[in-house]
Amino acid sequence: MENKIAIKDVFMVSYVGDELIQHRTSIFIDGNVIAKVGDTDPENRFSGSDLVIEGKNLIAIPGLINLHSHAGPTAIRGLAEDLRLSEWLKKYVNPAHMVLTADDAEVDYELSYLEMIKSGITHVLDLYRFPQVGINVANRTGIRTTIAPYTSDVYEGFEKPETAVRDVEKYHEFKGLGRVWAGFEHISYCSESCLLSISKAAKENGTGIHTHEFETLDFVENVVKAYGKRPLSVFKEFGMLNSNLILAHCVWPTPEELRIIAESGISVSHNPVSNMKLASGIAPVPEMLRLGINVGLGTDGVKENNRLDIFQEMKVASLMQRVAYEKAQLMKAEEVFKMATVNGSRALRMKSGELREGYLADVVLLDSRAPNLNPLYEDNVISQVVFAAHPGNVKHVIVDGKLVVENGKSVNIDEDRVVEKALKRGKELLKKIG
Ligand SMILES: [Zn+2]
Repeated sequence: MENKIAIKDVFMVSYVGDELIQHRTSIFIDGNVIAKVGDTDPENRFSGSDLVIEGKNLIAIPGLINLHSHAGPTAIRGLAEDLRLSEWLKKYVNPAHMVLTADDAEVDYELSYLEMIKSGITHVLDLYRFPQVGINVANRTGIRTTIAPYTSDVYEGFEKPETAVRDVEKYHEFKGLGRVWAGFEHISYCSESCLLSISKAAKENGTGIHTHEFETLDFVENVVKAYGKRPLSVFKEFGMLNSNLILAHCVWPTPEELRIIAESGISVSHNPVSNMKLASGIAPVPEMLRLGINVGLGTDGVKENNRLDIFQEMKVASLMQRVAYEKAQLMKAEEVFKMATVNGSRALRMKSGELREGYLADVVLLDSRAPNLNPLYEDNVISQVVFAAHPGNVKHVIVDGKLVVENGKSVNIDEDRVVEKALKRGKELLKKIG
């Protein structure tokens, strides 16, 4: 196993603090951190490396952060189509959750984490079930995961609050590449005692809390019906209105609610493809960024997207605002790139998202000879990465200082076996749903 990896003479694109750096350099990894960025030339620096990657035809970017996803149910990908959120959940998603077992979840984690790592995603915030299964799969695959249990005590087919609390207590610190934070599906899926126990578990174990909010207007109404007040007041009542909270979506907050989100230090995961596909609406992201809200990017799940691809989210995040406001200057490449790297890492409290000394060695190397990334000049690399790149351009991926994707293939996983298992298990799950 390599302990020291050198990436030689590579074109690097990364934020370093507030500055976007785009230039040719070398990156030296020691253990699980970036030991040095610089020195394009002294050959002796490479001699101590266990692995030297020739970077001449590569672009190095920080590992992409997927700030909101659901590993499954993968069985219904491509079958759960053409409905808006509430009907879609009723007809497709909830029935699948009702019959889902830990073995099904293992197949979901395997398929989704394989897809993500091959797409250059090095850390995912995953709202899903059976978290200990997910941690094992993440360690086998070589991707970082923060799993927030899908908790509910109102509906069947989710994690019970006592199970979720136990998992947070047990796994709140990283076990290898995976850990568990507090989470729940939605306020309206939880009783008061459920929200209280989740809030308490997060406080006692020092974790973040992840949930969906302001995704559609009828889901905001569901909160008002259940609690007699709007979502932020509920979060406040249960001690969650603070910087530990990461909200997926935030399509429909009022201007006053946006101001409170900013003041409270809440992070937001923006999921543009999911919001467009389910016709949920256009999140006011330019306004969020103007108010200083920390906004990252998420794919949402395979069943709504149907692709776990942060390159696509970066591009679509930009395009949807431009067409909404008819302003071509909105959401520039560097801004959405920052969301997908720096902001996602910040929400997850990780020293990652930048190619910088002392930061975690989570690095994605793109094939700069790919036709769709050319011509590649010194000053258009960021635009190529955001608007032209796709997962097929991912050549090598390093997570925690280890090479986990080499020449576009998983180093650790038998890809055919994962795909075959997903097909077999998917058919069985569909039969169980009926
Ligand atoms: Zn979601």
